[in-house]
Amino acid sequence: MRDDFKNEVTIDFSKAEKRHELEKAIKEVEDSFETKYPLVIAGDHILSGEYIKSVNPSNIDEVVGYVAKGSIEMAERAIQAGEMSFKYWGNLSGCERARYLYALSSVFKRRRVELVATMMIEAGKTWPEADGEVAEAIDFIEYYAREAERLDEGEDLVRLPDEDNEIIYRPLGVGVSIPPWNFSLSILTGTTIGPVAAGNTVVLKPASATPVIAAKFMEMVEEAGFPDGVINFLPGSGSEIGDYLVTHPKIHFVAFTGSKEVGIHIYEEAAKVRPGQAHLKKTVIEMGGKDAIIVDSTADLDLAARGIVESAFGFQGQKCSACSRAILIDDIYDEMVERIVYLTSKLEVGDPRGLTVDMGPVIDDSGCKKILGYIEIGKDEGELIYGGYKIDTNGYFIMPTIFKDVDLEAKIAQEEIFGPVLSIIRAGDFKDALNIANNTAYGLTGSVYSRNRDHLERARREFDVGNLYFNRVCTGAMVGVHPFGGFKLSGTDAKSGSHDYLKYFLQPKVISEKF
Ligand code: NAP
Ligand code: MG
Repeated sequence: MRDDFKNEVTIDFSKAEKRHELEKAIKEVEDSFETKYPLVIAGDHILSGEYIKSVNPSNIDEVVGYVAKGSIEMAERAIQAGEMSFKYWGNLSGCERARYLYALSSVFKRRRVELVATMMIEAGKTWPEADGEVAEAIDFIEYYAREAERLDEGEDLVRLPDEDNEIIYRPLGVGVSIPPWNFSLSILTGTTIGPVAAGNTVVLKPASATPVIAAKFMEMVEEAGFPDGVINFLPGSGSEIGDYLVTHPKIHFVAFTGSKEVGIHIYEEAAKVRPGQAHLKKTVIEMGGKDAIIVDSTADLDLAARGIVESAFGFQGQKCSACSRAILIDDIYDEMVERIVYLTSKLEVGDPRGLTVDMGPVIDDSGCKKILGYIEIGKDEGELIYGGYKIDTNGYFIMPTIFKDVDLEAKIAQEEIFGPVLSIIRAGDFKDALNIANNTAYGLTGSVYSRNRDHLERARREFDVGNLYFNRVCTGAMVGVHPFGGFKLSGTDAKSGSHDYLKYFLQPKVISEKF
């Protein structure tokens, strides 16, 4: 096995030469507006009658593309295609499968700038956010390829004098990958390529807000030469075809990332054994967050303020790991509020194609309305001290918004808003701060800024989240470095980007031979 995994280095598009490459790629994506993309089942390209329209959230008159929309009948075909191709794919060695992944990684690298430009336009990401995401997608492929190779090595068992024992990991069969729109390439790649690296086949149902980048992923899968039917591309509405896929008796696993409501629904539905089903489905369900950053008086306050602003407003707060609660201890409260507001006031909001922009639009009309609804609620629950409105343009731009003096039980301190809204909460002391931080149904990420060793040690034990950071932002987990997943109602904590991940899509088999 190769042990040379290294995280992909991001591109610095602030350099003139790189910036020109990006500008060219943006132009090319614009020239391809309104292209029609097919769904792909067993290698067949199907341009069905209905399409999902992908709109640029920075300018809703621009249609990034139309992607063919799958029906229940197509879903059935896709599952059958996955079942057929599993007979071949499931019996390849890990090393053989890994070679397809390395091929896919090189296609990603060749098309990298195009992928960055596509997400800037389809998802409203700034270039550093979009490029970081492409790097993460490549990391998932490279990391899981090495994991597939590692599977071939097996694991040691105790050997008896006259008996040989081995443990092997067998893939499950055909399953479903259901990613969200907010990491429309990296999570999609992880939840699809992880199970595939383990020897399974997949029906991929991408998020409806970002189908064009998903269609490009499928183009790259084909360019890399994956056998037909190993990955079947089935865009379509979650509410129309989601249940059919999840409840289907031939489906063996569901790899889902998205909201708490949909995640819990899938978890419940996948647990029922239906007629014709002779197995229990495995589920990897990663859901939302209400992530907090705690700052105490020993912290580097400048670093802490920068960390809060970056974590709260990066990608417009539309990250599961975004900081939506800043919990500040009384003695530094006022000074920190001032610093946070000052740094926020420097953020430039606009179309990410203007390459100096710090914050783009939120994803779509319903996201925008939901966020503005929470801002209205917040006006009764705390003091609005910055932002609080939508900018009047042809896109979904919401100002970074800060409320202070928010009660720990307030709606805006409890519910995932998934937008650029930060609630600042006052804590009496560090113990109080930890109690406030843990006082939600979620447990995804969190961060503590402190130089007090006792506080940090206490947080290690008591801060109830899957990914805890000290003296740094609570976003930006890297594959292999920060395996990712949450506690409580943030999910099954399957830790993507870790040695554990592929095992969720495998079943161990022990074989003992007596001599
Ligand atoms: P979402 O509305 O739950 O949708 C996620 C996916 O589920 C989409 O592909 C959606 O399809 C599909 N879906 C909807 N209803 C379904 C059903 N009944 N059966 C099967 N699939 C169904 O979430 P989102 O708005 O895309 O993403 C944002 C959420 O993801 C936030 O809560 C965020 O915190 C969470 N998230 C978590 C992590 C993590 O690692 N824990 C990472 C990123 C994001 P349609 O698009 O067609 O509706
Ligand atoms: Mg859109």
